[in-house]
Amino acid sequence: MTNKRQKQAKKTISFYKYNFSFREPYQILLDGTFCQAALKNKIQIKEQMPKYLMGEVQLCTTSCALKELETLGKELYGAKIILQRFQVRRCPHLKSPVPASECLLSMLEENNPHHYFVATQDHPLTTGLKAIPGVPLFYIILNTIVLDKPSQASLDHVQAVQLGELVSPAQQRSICSLKEEQGIGQKDGEQRKKRKRKQSNPNPLSCLKKKKKKGVPTPPLKKPEEGAKRKRSRHKKRRTEGGDMEAAPAATST
Ligand SMILES: [Zn+2]
Repeated sequence: MTNKRQKQAKKTISFYKYNFSFREPYQILLDGTFCQAALKNKIQIKEQMPKYLMGEVQLCTTSCALKELETLGKELYGAKIILQRFQVRRCPHLKSPVPASECLLSMLEENNPHHYFVATQDHPLTTGLKAIPGVPLFYIILNTIVLDKPSQASLDHVQAVQLGELVSPAQQRSICSLKEEQGIGQKDGEQRKKRKRKQSNPNPLSCLKKKKKKGVPTPPLKKPEEGAKRKRSRHKKRRTEGGDMEAAPAATST
């Protein structure tokens, strides 16, 4: 049973890694209901979560979730002690706290940009979370932590991406890095420069020595210098030989 559960979790985690760019340390946002259930079922959250996810985790909550536990009184004192140990993430309700469920929902915004896992036993909250694509959910059932399968909203989102209707952040990044690796953006510029050089360079050469071009076609940049030197030497020879009239205008043009 535990093996099967772990296998399923692995599959689900890689789904979120691949499609929604989840990375370690996994951010897990917890509320009082989850801590209460963990306490009842004698589950050590801090020990179990990294084991279950097979990776580093960061357990966190919000001040609203803590406040709510305080107001609910003695019955939830144990849950409050557990929740207090986790990092408190900044929520937008510092001045006027809201119910934990409302707060956690607001932490996920429209598309869970901070890649939170959410651990809660609050059913209305769970329903709200399932409407947001890319939110992995934990709940406790039969004495164990369970990572829920991807919600329909997540599956729909992934399908839309695959159909080309959306580009996921992960895809955008990989496109950018691929471009960088292959230097596509830079190559365009280089090619344009090269073309310009080719256009500007051959003109003096082709005007002067067409025979040479046929013999030595490959190195484009060294051509003018070599050609010029050879011409000069030939001009000198020609001048000494007596072919002055033809060579003279070419020498002035270089
Ligand atoms: Zn809040």
